Amino acid sequence: MSKLVKKNYLLAPGPTPVPIDLLLEGARDTIHHRTPQFKKIMDEAIEGTKYVFQTTNDLFLLSSSGTGAMEMAVANLVSPGEKVIVVVGGKFGERWEKICKVYGAQVVPIKIEYGDYATPEMIDDALQANPDTVAVFTTLSETSTGTVMDIEGFSKVVKKHGKLIVVDAISGLIAQPLKTDEWNLDVVVAGSQKGFMLPPGLGFITFSEDAWKKVETTTTPRFYFDARAYKKNPAPYTPAVNLIYQLKKAVEMLKEEGMENVWERHRILADATRAAIKALGLEFFSKNPGNVLTAVRVPEGVDGLKLVSIMRDEYGVTIAGGQGDMKGKIFRVAHLGYMSKFDVIIAVSALEMVLRKLGYNIEYGSGVKAAEEIFEKEGV
Ligand SMILES: *Cc1c(COP(=O)(O)O)cnc(C)c1O
Repeated sequence: MSKLVKKNYLLAPGPTPVPIDLLLEGARDTIHHRTPQFKKIMDEAIEGTKYVFQTTNDLFLLSSSGTGAMEMAVANLVSPGEKVIVVVGGKFGERWEKICKVYGAQVVPIKIEYGDYATPEMIDDALQANPDTVAVFTTLSETSTGTVMDIEGFSKVVKKHGKLIVVDAISGLIAQPLKTDEWNLDVVVAGSQKGFMLPPGLGFITFSEDAWKKVETTTTPRFYFDARAYKKNPAPYTPAVNLIYQLKKAVEMLKEEGMENVWERHRILADATRAAIKALGLEFFSKNPGNVLTAVRVPEGVDGLKLVSIMRDEYGVTIAGGQGDMKGKIFRVAHLGYMSKFDVIIAVSALEMVLRKLGYNIEYGSGVKAAEEIFEKEGV
């Protein structure tokens, strides 16, 4: 390897690669945020982001990573002592649980095994047993396990009980269909560094009318993330001006492509990746793998930490390892944002080489071949 130039490929589920047009957009002059010129840019960025969320609800841009948007959801919807139901099937469900506890909520977790998914029936049972619940916190794509959940199905149940549903769509939005208004989702959060093809630094959050009613009565102290301040003025404090230039352009690109097409392109990349993993005789970690990333069990006899570090440090291909208890046991290949078929081919071929290097015998090209066949079948 050392005889060759090392090129780097970012194939992790966030941050994701940023196309050069969007990088350049961020390199423009920083203008003052209290000007009509900037207000117009920000308004357009917000309108475009609403399209991506498929909503006409209020949507705010936050100068924070996605977790800031999660914290804003909790701080504005939950008063100390109130009961919430949280779907917990991985690190990000656990994050909802932690934030809710920090804010003094009484948390009823729906615990599912890592890699497994919750069903609408489980939500129904939990709500029936806990009629005093104020909100259900869920995750569209549990990035730590590569699992997608049936948010539309969850929402039908939650609405039947007349409660609020809050969705962490930080990695799932854009890769996976999500329709905020059609599915009656009260609060949806996301971040810039995943499907939006942007650098890290922006959080997004939407509030439905029902959510607003709760925001008004929540007693939790809050300041920077007080949603009422953003409702009065979408830029209550200095916004991330240059990131918002980039966002405006990114959402224009997504709108021009159309969300149906955006979802479809993620589906094709995910199908190709999954076909390659199967052809290599490897096992999926998730029982319901989504189109954001593919989580794979490290095969017996292979050092999972080494697999990820050799791929990154020697081959220049950054994928993600396992988090928490999954460390060393799984690896995660993203097909999210500004990625296309040769990103899948790079991930799969690097995986083949590193598996062989680590003594796991696979036939060279078998994964690549399976991916290529999917691309041929899809005509892409
Ligand atoms: C990335 C991610 C987060 C955390 O977002 P940050 O931007 O790192 O704060 C939360 N939830 C999910 C599902 C994610 O994928």
